[in-house]
Amino acid sequence: MSRMKAVQFTEYAAAPHVVSVAEPDCPADGVLIRVGATGVCRSDWHAWQGHDPVRLPHIPGHELAGVIAQVGHEVARRRVGERVTVPFVCGCGSCDFCLTGDAQVCPDQTQPGFTGPGSFAELVAVRAADLNVVPLPESVDFVTAASLGCRFATAFRALTAHGRPQQGEWVAVHGCGGVGLSTVMIATALGAHVVAVDVSDAALARAGELGAEVLVVSGDNAAGEVVDATGGGAHVSIDALGSAQTAVASVECLRPRGRHVQVGLLLGPHSTPPLPMDLVVARELEIYGSHGMAARDYPAMLALVESGTLRPDLLVGDVIGLEDAGAALAAMSRPATRAGITVIRIN
Ligand SMILES: [Zn+2]
Ligand SMILES: [Zn+2]
Repeated sequence: MSRMKAVQFTEYAAAPHVVSVAEPDCPADGVLIRVGATGVCRSDWHAWQGHDPVRLPHIPGHELAGVIAQVGHEVARRRVGERVTVPFVCGCGSCDFCLTGDAQVCPDQTQPGFTGPGSFAELVAVRAADLNVVPLPESVDFVTAASLGCRFATAFRALTAHGRPQQGEWVAVHGCGGVGLSTVMIATALGAHVVAVDVSDAALARAGELGAEVLVVSGDNAAGEVVDATGGGAHVSIDALGSAQTAVASVECLRPRGRHVQVGLLLGPHSTPPLPMDLVVARELEIYGSHGMAARDYPAMLALVESGTLRPDLLVGDVIGLEDAGAALAAMSRPATRAGITVIRIN
């Protein structure tokens, strides 16, 4: 059996190493993708830390782009050699949700890098390829495409499917990491005004460069400052971080009939934030959860990337090799010193 290089950890929080492992089998309904680039995400860090249990030893990685290397015999629409990406949630392809295009909530979903081996590797297997695999426009390179797979696509869907800001409305963004900065860029492109909230001056400065008009240092009165800056509250507010504090602030900073979208994963002790449901009633607020974006919705986003309206390439920070992936994960245990999405380039 052929071998490939991959980044693997054998125990939670133990240093990941580049190792030689057996190449994955190609699923009958899926493809093998030769990974060109793959993003390093906080979700990978959570899996590595054991917050989101995975089967050990484990290969992380879920934000990938590359070339189809092998196609299963049940696949009709994909060909070897195509440049592609995939959503981090891969639907089963046969349930009611998948059949109506909502694979992001498929009850039988798989996620490379969580439910199975991921894309910190030369090859990764993706099932139900006719549903989940998205061809890339020629002008979108692998590093940029890898930055789309999770954070950017998630922000795009949170705004376009749930938040739905109109031209000139205010969008509050709580947490300016990868998802938050993507949200700032996309909301600005949609014609909204953006107020960004974060604890980090560097993150806020980056949000300002990407279009945020008001910058709020996160603290005890973040919601009050957003309400003041927006003349009565944001129309749409996104918790892009995922903590009890940011979730509550996001709801509190809305004007009547405002829409809160929870995007940041609320893990462990943050899983049940004390949301002010009295405000939800009195102000008739809408509360949404947003979980990635299905392949069906990628073409609209990719068209805006191709036209230059959206510039996910501007969100890419360091581009590293596979051998530096472990250090990049470990760096997430400390406060971020560099803005932007780290992307691993492979092959
Ligand atoms: Zn399904
Ligand atoms: Zn991710």
